[in-house]
Amino acid sequence: MTSISTILEKTSFSQKDLEQLLQCEGEEKTLLFMKSAETKESFVGKKVYFRGLIEFSNVCDKDCFYCGIRKSNDQVKRYNLNDSEILDAVRFAHENNFGSVVLQSGENGSPVFTDRIENLIREIKQLSNNRLGITLSVGEQSETVYRRWFEAGAHRYLLRIETSNPFLYRKIHPDNELHIYDTRMNCLYLLRKIGYQVGTGVMIGLPFQTISDLANDLLFFQNFGIDMVGMGPYIEHSQTPLYEFRNQLLPLKERFDLSLKMIAVLRILMKNINIAAATALQAIDPLGREKGIKVGANIIMPNITPGFYRNDYSLYENKPCVDEEPAQCVGCLDARIALADGEIGYGEWGDSLHFEKRKGHLPEDLP
Ligand code: SAH
Repeated sequence: MTSISTILEKTSFSQKDLEQLLQCEGEEKTLLFMKSAETKESFVGKKVYFRGLIEFSNVCDKDCFYCGIRKSNDQVKRYNLNDSEILDAVRFAHENNFGSVVLQSGENGSPVFTDRIENLIREIKQLSNNRLGITLSVGEQSETVYRRWFEAGAHRYLLRIETSNPFLYRKIHPDNELHIYDTRMNCLYLLRKIGYQVGTGVMIGLPFQTISDLANDLLFFQNFGIDMVGMGPYIEHSQTPLYEFRNQLLPLKERFDLSLKMIAVLRILMKNINIAAATALQAIDPLGREKGIKVGANIIMPNITPGFYRNDYSLYENKPCVDEEPAQCVGCLDARIALADGEIGYGEWGDSLHFEKRKGHLPEDLP
């Protein structure tokens, strides 16, 4: 077997190399994390960018087997923030110099929803004098809809592939026309074609998932040439079908560790992309996101959904900070990022350098 330090010297990585990196422990893991931290600092610097996350509705048309807000979960209290509540949260992000906001919700394909998002995008641009960057994360939509929102001013889109293995995808979703792997893939291509900075990601530690699946996920991000990645541990939810398999899961601590390794290896593989330290990391370890930042992530999505609703956007159990108001998060984050040896890029968009280069905004010899 090749040693980890030899693999870390390489400039291209085989699937087997990636598997080995994902399985390293002890001193080898320390080496991996040192390399990923170094790579991060030289390619994207120390800055951490904020995206104020507004989970504006938990109403969802989909029935994903892992997700707490799936359509068939009738124990969820459904909510839908009104526009003025959303814009209050946006104002908060703007006043606190967050640089960008993310609008996220359950999936909804209705024309009313399309119009509403388009209108909100315009309002956000106006309210912030075009200063706030806008990321959308509202699922699979048609090309026309994606285009309308792009033209209104949204410039980044997050759509996790959840797993790049189509067979595993099938196992964790209902077998119907709303949950098709190829459709999701096609959405990623459409988003790129339209001109968005495209983000995707996977859950780590899903039932039936193997190390080889995760290594393939990393190669998938690379082959697709993704601009941004958000990935985190899968956390079981008792009101979902996958809960049945909870005894087959890795212990939480191991899922957490594997997630950090995924971030570190991805940073080494795709040096100039934006990588988010997912909130789910913090659900397992109170310093989870900071640890993510330390080993390679450069984006944090502080939750600025009004506190009253946060408890109801429960994708998984033990979601952090659900009892806080947004203002409490800000002071807390400042201190946390400093601990992780980062600096906050206040008021900056912090676009993906990978995207800038792909668009020809950066010369080839820059990151
Ligand atoms: N409707 C949007 C947003 C979905 S929620 C969309 O389809 O993109 C955002 C992410 O939460 C999902 O993509 C999924 O990866 C993650 N998620 C859902 N359930 C989860 C769970 N039980 N554990 C960890 N992450 C989960």
